[in-house]
Amino acid sequence: MPHDLFTEDFKEQPFWWDRTPRPEFEPGSLPSRADLAIIGSGYTGLSAAIEATRGGLDTLVLDAEAAGWGCSARNGGQISTSLKPSFGDLARRYGAGRALSILMEGHRALDWLASFVEAEGIDCDFQRCGRFLGAHTLAWFDRLRRDLENEHRELRTDSFPVTRDEQHGEIGSDYYYGGIVSPHHASVDPARLHMGLLDLAIRSGGKIATNCAVSGLERLSDGFRVSTAQGDVTAKRVILATSGYSGRLSPWHRRRIIPIGSYMLATQPLPDRLIGELNPKGRVNSDTRKLVVYYRTCPRRQRVLFGGRVSIKEPSARATAPALHDEMVRIYPQLADVRISHAWMGFVGYTFDKLPHLGERDGLYHSMGYCGSGVSLACYCGMRIAQQVLGLPEGRTPLDTTRFETRPYYFGKPWFLAPSVRYYRWADRRGR
Ligand SMILES: Cc1cc2nc3c(=O)[nH]c(=O)nc-3n(C[C@H](O)[C@H](O)[C@H](O)COP(=O)(O)OP(=O)(O)OC[C@H]3O[C@@H](n4cnc5c(N)ncnc54)[C@H](O)[C@@H]3O)c2cc1C
Repeated sequence: MPHDLFTEDFKEQPFWWDRTPRPEFEPGSLPSRADLAIIGSGYTGLSAAIEATRGGLDTLVLDAEAAGWGCSARNGGQISTSLKPSFGDLARRYGAGRALSILMEGHRALDWLASFVEAEGIDCDFQRCGRFLGAHTLAWFDRLRRDLENEHRELRTDSFPVTRDEQHGEIGSDYYYGGIVSPHHASVDPARLHMGLLDLAIRSGGKIATNCAVSGLERLSDGFRVSTAQGDVTAKRVILATSGYSGRLSPWHRRRIIPIGSYMLATQPLPDRLIGELNPKGRVNSDTRKLVVYYRTCPRRQRVLFGGRVSIKEPSARATAPALHDEMVRIYPQLADVRISHAWMGFVGYTFDKLPHLGERDGLYHSMGYCGSGVSLACYCGMRIAQQVLGLPEGRTPLDTTRFETRPYYFGKPWFLAPSVRYYRWADRRGR
């Protein structure tokens, strides 16, 4: 590892915020009433706000921080078609038909987002770039190939295997034993996407209150009292859109969401020739290890953006950047002397069954738990939950038919993650 790992102008903040700083709003007075209050101003909250205001509801979005401060303006911008559980896992639980309809939602979410971005003219560098998923052992390559052969025909992923001999056409690395290319996966500038949604939500008539943490939710006979330090709002309906940042506000939801730290870095600008060698087709990448890594080049193709789960909850991205740099160099030894210009982290919301959950409980609506794949899913599910609030039949989705589970002795602090991570590390080293 180079001694001077960080550039002189290193920033501990998302690379995306250089081009798209977090918006600031003049402090204004909170309305005392709203038809709908949405807690959380990420993709879920804003997508719900757009749909609800267009459906005629007087809508207020509240966020404890700046707009999009959570995961939505700090993620990797990689968009997959897949939900985390396999067809086999879901078929065992729900039967083949339901398993297929649940998995199809992953495809629908990406297709819906692609059409929405185009129809609304959101300038966010959306590209169908495809993903290369590297196999970290030969056994994993064989398994990926087998899974592909047995893939359900209706999923139509069009994925294809790439052998180790061919892989330099996809990635400038010898780390993998081949992999799978999924051509429909996409990439986006996540902060531009967020800004586009924010703009649409406001233009549709939605109101937004930032730096306005909701400290209490009290049920009334015809809605909720939403308490904040800036005053109370009476809302007929409330949507909880807090995902990995779900705190004490609703203990029921907190018991069902597992916050897991995800860490990213951006390299200093790199020569075109090197970028062309590392990522010849401009794909997004990840691999088969249990301890997830994900990486890509930025939209202008000057830098590598590299992410992974190098810690569970360390809040300092600077402290975790050396471990992330080591991971990057394991895959791309060409980057051993390259310095880091930005490092940042955020908390993704996981669930016990690895599926997102949306629905209503005692009048309180929620959409959360995208398990690290929220760019398309949060936008899509946010739109669907608002349709449910509006009472529209199209708001129903196969995702809202599954039980939102918790586990005994889990109250929001994931004590079981440290031993799981140790096991994953051990399993990854042995190629399990
Ligand atoms: C580093 C990183 C990389 C990622 N990479 C990818 C990727 O490449 N592809 C992908 O698909 N997904 C990725 N994700 C996940 C994805 O970004 C999220 O799933 C998605 O943005 C969730 O959106 P959301 O609107 O539900 O929640 P968030 O965007 O997290 O928003 C939740 C908001 O709720 C607010 N809030 C919480 N409590 C309160 C309260 N009491 N009062 C008011 N406001 C409150 C928070 O301030 C926060 O702004 C990544 C996440 C991280 C952290």
